[in-house]
Amino acid sequence: MKLTSKISIILVVLVLMSGCLIGILCVENVSDAFDDYLFDTYEVMLDEWARTFVAYYSYHGSWNGVEYFGRVVGLEQSGVVLSDLNGRILYHFDRDYVGRHVPQEIFSRGYLLRVDHNVIGILYPAALFSDTFTVMQEEFSKAMMGAIAKGVLIISLFAILIGIGLSVSIATPLKDLTQATKRMAKGDFSESLPIYGSDEIGDLSRSFNSMANELEKSTELRQQMVADISHELRTPLTVLSSKLEFTLEQNTPLEMEEVAVLYDEVIRLRGLVGELQDLSKLEAGHAMLDKTLISFPAYFSDFQVLLEAEAESREIDLRVDLASDAVYCYADPKRLKQIILNLVNNAFRYTAEGGAITIRTWQDAYGFYFSVQDTGIGIAPDELERIFERFYRTDQSRHRENGGSGLGLAITKALVDAHGGWIKAESQLQAGSIFTVWLPHWTDTKAENNEVN
Ligand code: ADP
Repeated sequence: MKLTSKISIILVVLVLMSGCLIGILCVENVSDAFDDYLFDTYEVMLDEWARTFVAYYSYHGSWNGVEYFGRVVGLEQSGVVLSDLNGRILYHFDRDYVGRHVPQEIFSRGYLLRVDHNVIGILYPAALFSDTFTVMQEEFSKAMMGAIAKGVLIISLFAILIGIGLSVSIATPLKDLTQATKRMAKGDFSESLPIYGSDEIGDLSRSFNSMANELEKSTELRQQMVADISHELRTPLTVLSSKLEFTLEQNTPLEMEEVAVLYDEVIRLRGLVGELQDLSKLEAGHAMLDKTLISFPAYFSDFQVLLEAEAESREIDLRVDLASDAVYCYADPKRLKQIILNLVNNAFRYTAEGGAITIRTWQDAYGFYFSVQDTGIGIAPDELERIFERFYRTDQSRHRENGGSGLGLAITKALVDAHGGWIKAESQLQAGSIFTVWLPHWTDTKAENNEVN
């Protein structure tokens, strides 16, 4: 069943139910009130005749002869009926009623006659015994029910109209949403949902659009990544397969140097796969950090010698300025080493002979700072903002033989993020670059639990 019909039916059923309820309550309460009103109009008359009957009873000491008395004083016109305490009729202008019992529904509604606080009889308006009263009552009830029925009918019509309006306003965005979901399932993110107002439906459309945007971005990223990975794998695989194919065709054993070249390609492949694995773990938040308080100078001295040897072999001037012996940082030692080596290796890679690399550390109340500055090829301003993307390599570095895969800085940034810190790069083309990392002294609860976001 369509939403429009469902909502209209529910509204009409609700209107009918409340109409019936109002009808029943009105008939019960208003009919009683109407009876009371009618009875009150007779009360003045009953009051007058009560005095006459009480005088009669006081004089005679009983109701004997009251019927005759009634006819003599002309009670026919006054329209009153007298009964004893048991409801037996003592006087009625219609003689047939005398001696019968007052009907049950009227019995409690009589006017009590008292002598010295003792009830001696009950007076009723004669109209209560005739059809007039009932007819008036029925007419009143009929008129009231008619009015209620008319009201219910009009409200039902309104309910149907409101139901249609309401369901159209709900169903249209839902229909759009369904269509958009189907389009998205087919990979089409081109059209966004129209926003209907600022209510919950508007919020839903807005959230859906932002979800679609995110999905589109991540789909593009995934596609881009697959393309990048295939591209990166192709070169070493091509070298390996063509060399092996040639060897098989020629049926000649490989020279040791050739094996070494092939082995280098295998190592490169393994490194690439390892880096990819590392990055995806970090980005998915599955990498665990084992953070401790590190005294930086002592920690750095372990691999400083290796860096100095590398600098010497490349004829690069390596300067280390560790500020003081009391520089501490709160990090996972293995991961911190990865961050430092990625940055320093990049500096070596993109700095020519005779250049200089300066490593600095310092700290303030909030955290630990580490920077690597070089006098290398530098990075163009428009490329600077992209260097932390996966597989991104600047034009300059692509032309160099010793360029890496373009994953190093993406991994470095993911590691720094996992520590709750930040990394920034400043550079000038042909003048050099400086990469600065900040790690907080204390991290939030998630990081404290060694979980990477
Ligand atoms: P790669 O493995 O190619 O070095 P990275 O992710 O480490 O990949 O770096 C991304 C790109 O950023 C590099 O290809 C290079 O173009 C640029 N880059 C990184 N560090 C430097 C640097 N110190 N000087 C100049 N360019 C750099």
